[in-house]
Amino acid sequence: MTLALPLVARGKVREVYDAGEGRLLLVASDRISAYDHVLPTPIPDKGRVLTQLSVWWFDQLAPVLAEHGATHHLVSATDVPDEVAGRAMLVRRLEMLPVECVARGYLSGSGTVEYQRTGSIRDVPLPAGLVEGSQLPEPVFTPSTKAEQGEHDEAIDFAAVVAAVGAERAEDLRELTLALYRRGAEIALDAGIVLADTKFEFGTDGSGLALGDEVLTPDSSRFWPATLWSPGGVQPSYDKQYVRDWLTSSGWDRVSPPPELPADVVEATRERYVTAYERLTGRSFT
Ligand code: ATP
Ligand code: MG
Repeated sequence: MTLALPLVARGKVREVYDAGEGRLLLVASDRISAYDHVLPTPIPDKGRVLTQLSVWWFDQLAPVLAEHGATHHLVSATDVPDEVAGRAMLVRRLEMLPVECVARGYLSGSGTVEYQRTGSIRDVPLPAGLVEGSQLPEPVFTPSTKAEQGEHDEAIDFAAVVAAVGAERAEDLRELTLALYRRGAEIALDAGIVLADTKFEFGTDGSGLALGDEVLTPDSSRFWPATLWSPGGVQPSYDKQYVRDWLTSSGWDRVSPPPELPADVVEATRERYVTAYERLTGRSFT
């Protein structure tokens, strides 16, 4: 698909176009990535789910942003070209900060790996005795670098955030990330979903901090069905974990080109993305 707009960037999942007047068009494709690779098999409707869910969350989170003197980048999800209707957002172009703002309320994935080795995640100490899936006593801010294309994001400590954006802005990022996580987790839990962790990206627009990118989607977050939550192992999820697990069981080495997903895995993945959308928003996905 090519739009009659200048392409600014093509990520693993999204295309970014220059929409003029200081705006960008973010178009989410149906591509799925895992372990830093784009898989050869698309997941039907995934782009629409990511976009519609982000749009819903921007609205839900606007009050939290306002309390912190911040904004979000969404201008419109309807005033977009027909070819990409449903999976595109018109946004304000921001100067993105070079930090991925990760919040974790539960221990999982790379967090567990680091915790098992060191008892902390970077400079954030955690109590003893936690296992994969444990709830943390308090949500924690565990930022990572925003890697260049093809590179792997790396966990960084708070001092590295200070070095990248300055002390005051670093404090603001931590506070806002945790406030957004808390509110998101509360809304999700009301819908029967544990928001285990998530990643936000912020930028600036001359007047202050603005929440950009996608927000609280199954690509940027771990979503677990609350009724099945049981620490001590990998949790059932409405996110990418299912695909990661299938890739692992397929024997793929994570280096060579990834394998095609079988039809049943594609359908089960689509189902998870759609379920996340429907449970969170209370709307049916059509
Ligand atoms: P990949 O996902 O392949 O690792 P990526 O994260 O750069 O790379 P995408 O997420 O597909 O790629 O593309 C979205 C890009 O647009 C990101 O680089 C993101 O930081 C950037 N972005 C999001 N919102 C804005 C905005 N309002 N202004 C400027 N850039 C933005
Ligand atoms: Mg991205």
